Amino acid sequence: MKNENDVQIERVYEKQVTVFGKALKIRRLILISLTTVLLGVMGYIEIAAFGWAVVAFIGFCLSLFSFLLYFKTIINFKEYSIEVSPSGDIFVTKLFGHCTICLGNLKVVKKANEFYLQCAEDKNHIWKTQ
Ligand SMILES: [Zn+2]
Repeated sequence: MKNENDVQIERVYEKQVTVFGKALKIRRLILISLTTVLLGVMGYIEIAAFGWAVVAFIGFCLSLFSFLLYFKTIINFKEYSIEVSPSGDIFVTKLFGHCTICLGNLKVVKKANEFYLQCAEDKNHIWKTQ
């Protein structure tokens, strides 16, 4: 593992996730998704219609995603990342930084409650961050 001052990553894009103009909090997202699952299941018990199964399935996917986000704090997609701030706000961000070894793109990963900058090209190119 290299010195933490060797590499830098910049947040070149940041957009807060809002619903009807209100900030979407991670705990609220979990609550909404679990409610959606419950609604779908209850609806399906009442009327065994395909639509309710779809509602339950969407809710289930959304809860998996929100739990993952809650525990990982950051999820990296190809170009963008979804991050949760310490206050629970959700942001879509774009991070930009280059590995000093191979010039590959850097991404932020969380392992055992610590954040690291990791090279997209080689998983062994990794730096600790605060
Ligand atoms: Zn690299």
